[in-house]
Amino acid sequence: MGSFWVYLTLGVIVSLMALGGVAVNNALEAIKLNPQDGDKPLLIHMHVTLKIIINDESLTIPKEIGIDPKLYKTHELDKYVPKKLGVYPLHTHDSSGVIHVESAVIRTFTLGQFFDVWGETFNENCIMNKCNDQLNKVRMYVDGSESFEFGDHVFKDHEIITIEYGSPRDQQQA
Ligand SMILES: [Zn+2]
Repeated sequence: MGSFWVYLTLGVIVSLMALGGVAVNNALEAIKLNPQDGDKPLLIHMHVTLKIIINDESLTIPKEIGIDPKLYKTHELDKYVPKKLGVYPLHTHDSSGVIHVESAVIRTFTLGQFFDVWGETFNENCIMNKCNDQLNKVRMYVDGSESFEFGDHVFKDHEIITIEYGSPRDQQQA
């Protein structure tokens, strides 16, 4: 094949790649997420504080959610962290309530996804095994302001999320 045809073919390939930018990006993401490739830098590393208050009592958030196999209930998002770290992108190290959000890919992560890996329930009706009844309600606050996003809430660095369950009389501190 003459060099004209080689260049023409290359030109067509490059044009198709430019047109198919999304496909190219997906291919690049697939390369980044190759499990062999364990030293990709973390592009997201955020810390969020979670507080859960049930009838005026602080609940201790366990350490090693998303690390300890007993507190690692889904593997749906495993691919977003280098395999050698052996953690879920949403995890705790200690019982301080600090959630670490770590990812080799820029994307959003939600509070609901944290509860998924923990294996606990959280939505507008229930926090863990405590559900709305005539007296008690689940409420959620982000940096002190009431939020109605519940599990859909997208994590932002340094925010403080408070989930409360109790009677309206109990729920004044946030
Ligand atoms: Zn961290």
